[in-house]
Amino acid sequence: MSSRNRVLGEELLNIISIIVIKKIVGFSTRSEEDFIKRSSLLGEWFDKTIDMMSSILVKKEDDKIYCRLCGSGPFTRKGFYLHLRRIHLEEIKDVLDNEFRLYIYSETKSLYKRS
Ligand SMILES: [Zn+2]
Repeated sequence: MSSRNRVLGEELLNIISIIVIKKIVGFSTRSEEDFIKRSSLLGEWFDKTIDMMSSILVKKEDDKIYCRLCGSGPFTRKGFYLHLRRIHLEEIKDVLDNEFRLYIYSETKSLYKRS
C-alpha cells in the first residue's frame, strides 16, 4: 500500500503525521499547527481531517486509551504517542495522503465541470 504514489511529499507527510499523532493523544501542538496553517489549504484540510483521524485511531473504554488499529492498550498518552509513531506511522501517512487527495479532488471538482 505504501508503494503507491503519494500526493504529499515524504517529508511533509512525516511532519503532518507526527502533528496528528501528538494532537490526537492530547499533546500541545499549537506551534506546529501555526506552521501548518501558514498554508491556508493545508490548514483547512487539517481541521477537517483531525476528528476523522482521531475516530479511526483512538478507542476509549472507561477513560482508557486503546489503539483502534491493532487493539492494543490501554496506553498512557505518552505510550500511545510512541505506539502510533513506532507501529502505525506508515499507515497513518497513507491515510493522510489519501484524505488529502480526496480533499483536493472534492475542492477542485467545480473547476473541471463543463458549463
Ligand atoms: Zn496499534
